[in-house]
Amino acid sequence: MADEPRVERTEEEWREHLTPAQYDVLRRAGTEPAFAGEYVYNKESGEYRCAACATMLFSADTKFDSGTGWPSFTEPAVAQAVELRPDRSYGMDRTEVLCRVCGSHLGHVFDDGPGPTGQRYCINSLALSFDAAGEPAPAGSSSSTPGPDEADAGEHPQ
Ligand code: FE
Repeated sequence: MADEPRVERTEEEWREHLTPAQYDVLRRAGTEPAFAGEYVYNKESGEYRCAACATMLFSADTKFDSGTGWPSFTEPAVAQAVELRPDRSYGMDRTEVLCRVCGSHLGHVFDDGPGPTGQRYCINSLALSFDAAGEPAPAGSSSSTPGPDEADAGEHPQ
């Protein structure tokens, strides 16, 4: 079975790749303070990607205002993009949500959500990277170039 994370980095590499706050959530299963995250109140349409590996995780179409203080979604954009795992830490019986591609912690899922799924994916803003949909291209730019390619930053010596 191909259940191993496809993106693997050492903890040293993750520390270089992520901010300290992102590292604490994504790699140490931390939780950002309620109502403090960047995307709690974001109502723009677009896509939420994994902040660690850029995998598409949630669509803004499924985001709803849960009142909890964390970005909340009724379902993942692609079911296979996330992995669910029992989490009995802190004396609670919860279900952890991880990015299946890189194994990073995203948040938890609960059964008190609205709509047909009845699920509430409670996800840290720090675990997400938002791509707004339909952003107008800068004036005078060529329509064939979507943007700068950040893939080759060259900041990680072997
Ligand atoms: Fe990821």
